Formats: sequence, structure tokens, C-alpha cells
Amino acid sequence: QAQAQARLRLESDLRAAIDRNELTLHYQPIRSTADQEVLCVEALIRWLHPELGVIMPDRFIHVAEETGLINPIGDWVLCEACRQAQAWCDAGLPPITMAVNVAPVQFRQAGFVEVVAGALATSGLDANRLELELTERTVMHDADINLGTLSALHRMGVDLSLDDFGTGYSSLAYLKRFPVGKLKIDRSFVADLETDPDDWAIASTIVSMGRSLRMTVLAEGVEKPEQLALLRKMGCDMAQGYHFSRPTSAEGMADML
Ligand code: C2E
Ligand code: MG
Ligand code: MG
Repeated sequence: QAQAQARLRLESDLRAAIDRNELTLHYQPIRSTADQEVLCVEALIRWLHPELGVIMPDRFIHVAEETGLINPIGDWVLCEACRQAQAWCDAGLPPITMAVNVAPVQFRQAGFVEVVAGALATSGLDANRLELELTERTVMHDADINLGTLSALHRMGVDLSLDDFGTGYSSLAYLKRFPVGKLKIDRSFVADLETDPDDWAIASTIVSMGRSLRMTVLAEGVEKPEQLALLRKMGCDMAQGYHFSRPTSAEGMADML
């Protein structure tokens, strides 16, 4: 009963969170493995709850998905991330690509392409400065229907990447047909990269496959210099993780840029 009550409370608080401006974005840099230049920034949502403090996305995104609140929340994230990327650009900071996570329900909502176009138009951000992160679970489910949405986004100039790659179900046939430009190796394969030969084998196989398919390959969750060295040797293009930086506020990210 206590659990059910806590969940109900979370749900009703989340409904109000958007209007009360309790949602905020943190940003994590994505660097080139070759010269460690910041190429992209991933926007990661945080909920600043007035009583419970900072709530991480793993605790509330699934509630948002189940209740449909993910649509207004996701729309806000898109608009805010685009606005921030353009604001950094206007302030004269080096140009970066802004990567935004998109939930399955949000991706499948009618008019999602228009929402993305609206966020770009309002912010003035160039479409090729925006990248949408989708998971295998999002794109492979009803793959033929999704192909239309993916192609429309691609035609607009928006980049697409497959997040948490290797943990879901992927059809290699679709990987070939989808206009996805980047694979993000899930951090579960990176965590023990330097000690577990199986993780090394999986990571280097994803890198070879991605590169052969002319995709960019990025490793998530890089925490140690040894991991970065191995990834660079494999030919992995980009890396993201605590080794470089934890997700930080917009001000912190601007300083870094
Ligand atoms: P994700 O998209 O795979 O994001 C990467 C997660 O890994 C982030 O957790 C990040 O803080 C964490 N991380 C980065 N580097 C390291 C590292 O070196 N070690 C470890 N242990 N972790 C690292 P976070 O911010 O808690 O987000 C968790 C998940 O919540 C995200 O996974 C994403 O699926 C989802 N999420 C976050 N923001 C949004 C959003 O705006 N919309 C949607 N739909 N989902 C979001
Ligand atoms: Mg992501
Ligand atoms: Mg991920």
C-alpha cells in the first residue's frame, strides 16, 4: 500500500512539475577519442522535486511513459535542449551537436516530426545540430511504420543514433535500411572492458560492424583511461563518461565548452 501511495503521489506531482518549472536539463559532453574535442552534448533530464530533492530519470521516466506524460515532458526537453544549443552558439561557443533522448511513446505519437520541426524553428537551431537518441526497442518495434518517421527526420537533416546498443533486439536488415548514423555501445559492455575478454569482443565487434556500415560508433560509460585507450585502438570514434565529465548544469557545460 505504501508503494502504491508513493507511486500515485509521484504521478500527480509529475503532472504539476512541468507547470511549476521543476524539470531541468543537465548536459554531458561527448568527445572524439582521437583528440578529445567535445563534438556533442547529451541532454539528460532531472526533476528538482521541492520536497524529495533531485529525482533521476530512471525513477520517473517510466511513470511518465505509462501515464502519457512523456509527450509534454519530451516536447519540453526537445524545445529546451534546442534553445540551449542555440544560446551557446549565439554566445560564441564552439558549435556542438545536441543529443536528445526520445522515449518510444513520444516517438510514436502522431505529429512527432512536426514537434521536432517546431523545436528547431522556435530556437533557430540548424537541423544538423540536433541528434535524436532512440533505442532498439523504439525503432525495431513496428519497424516498417517507424521507417517513415525516421526517413522524414533524416530528410529534415536531423541525425539519428541508437542508444544502449547491444542490449535490445536489433534486426541487422533494418540496421542496413534505417537512416541511423550512430551506434552508442551500451555502458554494460564498457564497464569491464579492460578485464573481461567477452565484453572486449562484443565492443570491438560493434565497432567493426558500425564502421563497415559507415556509421559513427560511440562508447557510453567510459570511466577509466584504460577503457578509452582500448576503445581508441578498436577504432571507436567517440566516447562519453565520467572519465571526462559527469552530467553538469548548463552553466558548467558552457564553462567546459
Ligand atoms: P542514457 O540515454 O543511456 O544516458 C546515459 C546515462 O548514463 C545517464 O544517466 C548518464 O548520467 C549515465 N552515465 C554517463 N556516463 C557514465 C559513466 O561513466 N558511468 C556510469 N555509471 N553512468 C554514466 P541518467 O542521466 O540517470 O539517465 C538515465 C536514462 O534516462 C538515460 O539513459 C535515458 O534513457 C533516460 N533519459 C534521460 N533523460 C531523458 C529525457 O530527456 N527523455 C527521455 N525519454 N529519457 C531520458
Ligand atoms: Mg542517451
Ligand atoms: Mg545509453
